[in-house]
Amino acid sequence: MAMPKTPTPRRRRRTALDKPRCHCAVFGVYGHPAAAQLTYYGLLAQQHRGQEGSGIVTADTDRATGKHRFHVHKDFGLVNDVYRDDRLLTDVLTGSMAIGHNRYSTAGAADNKTNVQPFTVLYKAGNIGIAHNGNLTNFRKIRKRLQDEGTIFQTTSDTEVILHLIARSKQDRQIDQIRDALSQVQGAFSIVILTDTALIAARDHAGFRPLALGKKGNAFIVASETVAFDIMDAEYVRDVAPGEMVVIDRHAEDTGEAISLRINDQPARPHHCIFEYIYFSRPDSQIFGHSVDKVRRKLGKNLARSQPVTPKDPDDRVIVINVPDSSNTATMGYVQAANKLGAKAKLEIGLIRSHYIGRTFIQPKQDVRENKVKTKFNTVKGVLKDKVVVIVDDSIVRGTTSKQLVQLVRQAGPKEVHFRVTAPPIMYPCHYGMDFPTPKELIANRCGGDVGKIGEELGVDSLGYLSIEDLLDSAPHERGENYCTACFSGKYPIPVDSNQSKDENEG
Ligand code: SF4
Repeated sequence: MAMPKTPTPRRRRRTALDKPRCHCAVFGVYGHPAAAQLTYYGLLAQQHRGQEGSGIVTADTDRATGKHRFHVHKDFGLVNDVYRDDRLLTDVLTGSMAIGHNRYSTAGAADNKTNVQPFTVLYKAGNIGIAHNGNLTNFRKIRKRLQDEGTIFQTTSDTEVILHLIARSKQDRQIDQIRDALSQVQGAFSIVILTDTALIAARDHAGFRPLALGKKGNAFIVASETVAFDIMDAEYVRDVAPGEMVVIDRHAEDTGEAISLRINDQPARPHHCIFEYIYFSRPDSQIFGHSVDKVRRKLGKNLARSQPVTPKDPDDRVIVINVPDSSNTATMGYVQAANKLGAKAKLEIGLIRSHYIGRTFIQPKQDVRENKVKTKFNTVKGVLKDKVVVIVDDSIVRGTTSKQLVQLVRQAGPKEVHFRVTAPPIMYPCHYGMDFPTPKELIANRCGGDVGKIGEELGVDSLGYLSIEDLLDSAPHERGENYCTACFSGKYPIPVDSNQSKDENEG
């Protein structure tokens, strides 16, 4: 069916202030007549994981000819922009199976629409589509080998190598071709794959990125975060395990049970991204089998215990403010623990965030607006004036936003301004699916990890970070969970190609 043309949403860089950026969200449905609509809602609920582009691929079978068909729609923009015309979801993206993807990309590859996922190809075994969250750490080596052998790449994305490896596999069965391909890639991947007859969800052996399995009636759902299940009243069943490949096909439809395979014989070596708990995931999600809200509160509590604030005048009451929205939950934990320890701390809403700048934000010129933070936040002056103020934030990346926030708070006339962070200093880049600036741009790296020096740059009376030990203590371990902390410690659990270019990684 020919669709009326809707204007292509202007591709824009995300305007989030100085935070690490999560690369992507994935979603998949098997066995629901409104698969595209469910995917739309699943992507909408996961908009925070990628805001530059979105795509949905559905699969159906032509009743007259029995031929399998894929339907694809993808574009730059927010989910609501990309699927603005409802008929896309009802009349174009037909079929009972679908996968979807929200994308955030790194610089250099963002202008190329072919980089918007899911990617699809038609090869000897039929149609296949893929959506990926994470970064492959050896994709450059694989891509070079494939190019030397004559493979032509259409995108600059690491994800495309998986499709080529599947298409070139010597295995007979499609499922074995996929296992063969996934056995060759290293790094972080939480992926959904759509074939003519099946939905497949797979996760790398370290399980860096979350991937959850759910059900809505008899339909199977897969999503990066469980918030995607809540929006459609689907039930969370379990996580896709590190190194597992879940196959959902006719057999799963008949028995109600998906088939669980191992990608290969390698044992799982869990290293979940601990930053998912600190900042990336929504607090109303369950990731790695646990409530983000609960972990975030504990981060705040541990921070209050290890980094208390002592006002210069002991009679002064401490006002604790969150940086909305990402530090809301942790700030509540901080205040609760601080008061238990005898501090006279009061939780206040001292910073108000504008929720409307995202869609229309125009980067102000330096002479128009010195303080970019002012476009997003304002202070409640009466709450801060003459008070000892503690700002609780989840992380400090470049430090530019934190510095401007401190300036903004100071303009409200507090007695003292203290800054507390529910993460350790970020010293190193991430190679497993998060986009951090270069080490030199990281304030902690630039200051050699010297907290006093960082505090001076920010202009605060005191600065306190959570230690790596307290960070790990805040995360659940009861089922033997293990976490990646490489951006804080520099200890990378999976080796990275020495020539790996960040700009070519996009998953
Ligand atoms: S390096 Fe940091 S952001 Fe990247 S996976 Fe590890 S903990 Fe997460």
